[in-house]
Amino acid sequence: PKGLMWFRRDLRVDDNAALYHALRACRQVVCVFVFDRAILDPLPRVDRRVGVIRESLAELDEELRALSGGLIVRHADAIEEIPALAHGLDVQAVFANRDDEPDALARDAQVLGALANAGVSFHTYKDSTVFDRDEVLTKTGQPYTVFTPYKRAWLAKVDSFFLKPYPVRSHADALAPPPEAHRTPVPSLEEIGFRRSNLSELDIPTGSQGAAALFEDFFQRIDRYDAARNFPAVRGPSYLGVHLRFGTVSIRQLAGIAHQLSLQGDAGAASWLGELIWREFYFQILVHFPHVHSGGESKSFRPEYDKIQWHHGKHADQLFEAWCQGRTGYPLVDAAMLQINQSGYMHNRLRMVVASFLCKDLGLDWRRGERYFALHLNDFELASNNGGWQWASSSGCDAQPYFRIFNPVTQSERFDPEGKFIRRYLPQLAGLSNAAIHAPWTASPVELEAAGIKLGETYPKPVVDHAEAREQTLRRYAAVRGAD
Ligand code: FAD
Repeated sequence: PKGLMWFRRDLRVDDNAALYHALRACRQVVCVFVFDRAILDPLPRVDRRVGVIRESLAELDEELRALSGGLIVRHADAIEEIPALAHGLDVQAVFANRDDEPDALARDAQVLGALANAGVSFHTYKDSTVFDRDEVLTKTGQPYTVFTPYKRAWLAKVDSFFLKPYPVRSHADALAPPPEAHRTPVPSLEEIGFRRSNLSELDIPTGSQGAAALFEDFFQRIDRYDAARNFPAVRGPSYLGVHLRFGTVSIRQLAGIAHQLSLQGDAGAASWLGELIWREFYFQILVHFPHVHSGGESKSFRPEYDKIQWHHGKHADQLFEAWCQGRTGYPLVDAAMLQINQSGYMHNRLRMVVASFLCKDLGLDWRRGERYFALHLNDFELASNNGGWQWASSSGCDAQPYFRIFNPVTQSERFDPEGKFIRRYLPQLAGLSNAAIHAPWTASPVELEAAGIKLGETYPKPVVDHAEAREQTLRRYAAVRGAD
């Protein structure tokens, strides 16, 4: 039979589950990627992620060609395009890797229906996680809602069977080049209606070669991950999030190596593996508790938190703008927001700090921040982003308790003690001492003058008072929590 491999968030050849199964099952496999208008049309016209995908597709196409295949790239509505292509190419089966996000599930259900009407089968496979939604459950078959027991069960279950790579290349002779009429180069950004972002100026390696280079670099320092991961000025984390998002790296490969090293006693690798497990924890939360995000709307995992009266109105909108633009007057928060605005990346410690600041210092609905991250993060992942925001706002499963409120100054002193990260993004504060840089309003007039800073002019005064905001937040949460 002839098959169609439909790439989505799995832009690689090696260890690709659906590609492997397609090559095993069919004598000829044609490959396609659709720039799905249903996803792209609502986005702003400058989006780094579209650039990352485009670059990764160019590499994927080249790799497939080297194996005598190639990639058809379309810009269309996938729900119509996939059945049309299946018909036009006269294939009997379509293969894809599963995507558990609500919109993707709805799309795939429609594609399945249209293909079935035409007598074409549609096969989907687990590929973006080590364990599927129902593979790690409690003894009574319920989904876990607390991370630590989930992690324990995950680790107890994992073995070489689940981490084994799919030997795609051994079956690559079934790859077929696209027929002449479909052989067009990967479209440019302009051709799909986008303008260039600053992606090429950032040091973000794309494609599976980019992912391999990042991993190689991280592998040299993985043993220090635990010690380094909380300090945003240090190259501690892997920066592989965007590659996990678009599947330019295999989770089995990453988890496999981390697992092996952790069995040998590498504490850094064990801790990093724990982060990969957080990712799978949130994936299964999104599927089993779809109320956390459905119909494009997020709701609290704990429904009582949806009754919180968030600060709203004109002043709230001004505070939100100050947060977005990095003008809150709290240097660590502002530097973090400049990091995401300028690069699409934000360090995990800072994601926690700015998320907490948004809902517990500014008193703003966490969903505003969630949406902002969704638009700007290169590694935006619905499940992890929703989970992260619900953690910070205390509305989630296994979340930060509501009365634990990060102090943005203390966080800054602890995790950027010399203000290195702050100085990188806020050069106007560079002249302040290490003692004052975390809270410029505490600096003496002499120090401010010597550093060339006029508070309220060259750098904002704090938009809220942390101690006051803290009291207000405790009252705000207490009001919906009743007696407990
Ligand atoms: P590393 O530290 O090298 O971690 C490796 C991988 O583990 C990450 O790439 C990611 O896939 C996974 N991971 C790490 N921490 C977490 C976590 N807490 N939850 C789930 N997965 C994790 N992560 C996303 O991938 N997409 C998001 O949209 C996202 N939004 C977040 C929003 C908030 C408010 C918070 C607090 C966290 C969010 N995270 C998100 C989790 C985490 O911050 C990022 O995964 C991490 O910073 C990515 O950088 P890295 O690849 O260098 O991470």
